[in-house]
Amino acid sequence: AAKAAGRDRVHLFSAGLRDAARWRLEVATRLRDGALDELVVHYQPIVRLDTGAVEGVEALVRWQHPERGLLPPDNFLSVAEETGQLIPMTRWLLRETCRNAAQWAHMGLPLRIAVNISARHFATETLVRDVRTALRESELQPEQLTLELTETSLAEDPARAEEQLSVLRSFGVRVAIDDFGTGWSSLAQLLALPIGTLKIDRSLLTAAERVSGPDAGDVLAAIVALTRTLGIRSVAEGVETAEHLRLVRQAGCDLAQGWLLGQPMSADQLPSWVRAVQEAGGDRCALALEGTR
Ligand code: C2E
Ligand code: MG
Ligand code: MG
Ligand code: MG
Repeated sequence: AAKAAGRDRVHLFSAGLRDAARWRLEVATRLRDGALDELVVHYQPIVRLDTGAVEGVEALVRWQHPERGLLPPDNFLSVAEETGQLIPMTRWLLRETCRNAAQWAHMGLPLRIAVNISARHFATETLVRDVRTALRESELQPEQLTLELTETSLAEDPARAEEQLSVLRSFGVRVAIDDFGTGWSSLAQLLALPIGTLKIDRSLLTAAERVSGPDAGDVLAAIVALTRTLGIRSVAEGVETAEHLRLVRQAGCDLAQGWLLGQPMSADQLPSWVRAVQEAGGDRCALALEGTR
């Protein structure tokens, strides 16, 4: 019986691999043949923890697949990266989000937007041009755009990273470090770079939550204190519960993002969502907590 179970597992495993290989091939082929048209951007609110105001949104790519429905980025980003499609995808996404943000500003909703940039794109010469094109076409204020970079993007070649960051900053664009706490880069080296924001990965929040007693959240608080000293703003990612919100507030984070405060939503849904928050007093944190009671 054990042997049979083993065989089943092997069978399941190879079926999984086959499916994975087939999926990668499908993604590669479709992306090459114009699935760019099937991409959509969803926007997740980022909220100030002092006033509860919605300060901006993060742009998150999805694929509206004709048969499989709306696919999250984990399903296709790595393939897009391998096939060289991620840079054209991001180029499109930059233009699309800047266009949306400019529209919202015209509607009286001046929201900041954050766009995720891959390490490979950050390492190219084209990034600066791609960003400038998107800004010029949309006439969006550069200060409204934040680029989210991962620790690895910056740690691989710190000297080159610093140069690239300086160019981006010279025309007003802001930069955030994404998923902080998931890599092993030197904190000192990272924070010495000209960055404006540190996004603290939700794994640190769940770790803080697991530690019981008076020490809960101390690591979080220590990171936030350090960012304060350096004049860097902090964003807590993955705030899902009232308890998470309490923890990140207590740690002194400036901003927060997560399902409790707002789900990612389409460009069509966002303006009315923000308006509804404003009409209810503008404090999204208070509203979210009311909703959980
Ligand atoms: P990220 O940049 O850290 O984005 C945050 C992710 O956490 C998003 O997942 C978001 O939907 C999810 N999230 C937000 N609030 C919560 C919460 O309360 N709980 C939990 N468990 N998750 C939450 P998503 O949209 O699946 O994106 C995953 C990752 O894919 C992103 O992580 C980012 O690294 C990457 N990504 C997404 N769009 C792009 C893109 O256009 N370009 C690049 N290069 N990467 C992208
Ligand atoms: Mg991000
Ligand atoms: Mg993140
Ligand atoms: Mg993350």
